[in-house]
Amino acid sequence: MKSQKHTSLTGLWNPVVEGLAPYTPGEQVEGEGVVKLNTNENPYPPSPHVIDIIGKRADETLRLYPDPEAKELKSALADFHEIDASQIFVGNGSDEVLGMIFSALFHRSSPLLFPDVTYGFYRVFCRLFGQPCRELPLTEGLELNPADYLASNGGILFPNPNAPTGLMLSLDQIRFIADKNSESVLVVDEAYIDFGGETAMVLLKRCQNLVIVRTFSKSRALAGLRIGYAVAHPVLIDALARVKNCFNPYPLDRLAIAAAAASVKDRAYFNKTRRQIMCTRERTARKLKEIGFHVVPSCANFVLASHPVVSAEKIKNELQKKQIWIRHFKAPRIENYVRITIGTDREMDICVNEIQKIVD
Ligand SMILES: *Cc1c(COP(=O)(O)O)cnc(C)c1O
Repeated sequence: MKSQKHTSLTGLWNPVVEGLAPYTPGEQVEGEGVVKLNTNENPYPPSPHVIDIIGKRADETLRLYPDPEAKELKSALADFHEIDASQIFVGNGSDEVLGMIFSALFHRSSPLLFPDVTYGFYRVFCRLFGQPCRELPLTEGLELNPADYLASNGGILFPNPNAPTGLMLSLDQIRFIADKNSESVLVVDEAYIDFGGETAMVLLKRCQNLVIVRTFSKSRALAGLRIGYAVAHPVLIDALARVKNCFNPYPLDRLAIAAAAASVKDRAYFNKTRRQIMCTRERTARKLKEIGFHVVPSCANFVLASHPVVSAEKIKNELQKKQIWIRHFKAPRIENYVRITIGTDREMDICVNEIQKIVD
């Protein structure tokens, strides 16, 4: 049998696949001496209770399927947020939760609205799901203007604080957008909310079209376990559950459910580590300004910064030679900025010192 040429096999693809433009995450580098500040991971370990419970639950019960409802986790989250478990949907990372939202709650008949500078995955999902979209430009100061979000739409989606700017909308601004769009769903991706922002959870009672998405990957130091969730009116949660149960009834495994619940219950550790990161962020921003950078004021665990003389690309490449990894987006408007994840004080000192040598 003659082997087929690789290229002709792409003819077997579903035609949608040809048009996909997959998301490129920051490099996952590991090793001695690597300072990894490129994917907004937490520099601190997860709560010790997380490690304990994984050890305890890694036993013969792994032969059994996990609870498809992940009740143990939903109950911990319901206590934490003082809401009902019926308002919670959990998934395998918030990216998957967003995928379920695209599938279950956005309408293809009108464009999805999101900012032109934002989390790159949104654009990727639009292609995959055949969702028309309109990217609304941020202001000169890279801020989202609520008045832009009044056009007819099949849904609205943005992170708050926004990524990669770190800038926040106020609750009044979010309420304005939700109120003006009562015929569609407003999704606020709160991936970075635990680093000093004000959550929109308090608006849920009043704004029944509001969906809030959260992740355990950043503030809870569990990127490796893949846990995310959405909070919304039970009727919207029901739509997500329907889609999930048509795709994968068990998105979270037994260990992830137990570990996530343990993380939520350890409030003291959570507060201690997120406050430390906020402290290090302010210290880092101050130092970058001292050496001439423009630093966008951030409510997240990263800062976006640009230098008036040295290009962002050069800074990124020179740092990489020293095993220091940061992120640079070759995207309009932010191509002269670098995004630096907030690590430990020591990691930030190493990073800022090297940057100083590059710009001097
Ligand atoms: C990191 C991030 C996510 C993805 O989180 P996972 O739970 O790891 O999939 C979603 N949205 C934004 C804005 C993020 O920065």
